[in-house]
Amino acid sequence: MTKAFTYHCRDCEGMEACPASVTAETKGELWQLIGHHARIAHDENPDEWDKATRDYLDTLIHTAEVATAAK
Ligand SMILES: [Zn+2]
Repeated sequence: MTKAFTYHCRDCEGMEACPASVTAETKGELWQLIGHHARIAHDENPDEWDKATRDYLDTLIHTAEVATAAK
């Protein structure tokens, strides 16, 4: 099991209809993926998110245990 950070877009206010979720090993990577998703799916520019938006999104990030394939 590996610790991971995960974000479900539908948890975000106004995004209830979005089925996307992203998972990454580090929070930095997860933010990149959230931004990438917002850009592609919601036509948003994550560079324009203010601190309040980032703080809000941060509350929606969960830690999860992810089963990885045994080598
Ligand atoms: Zn979305």
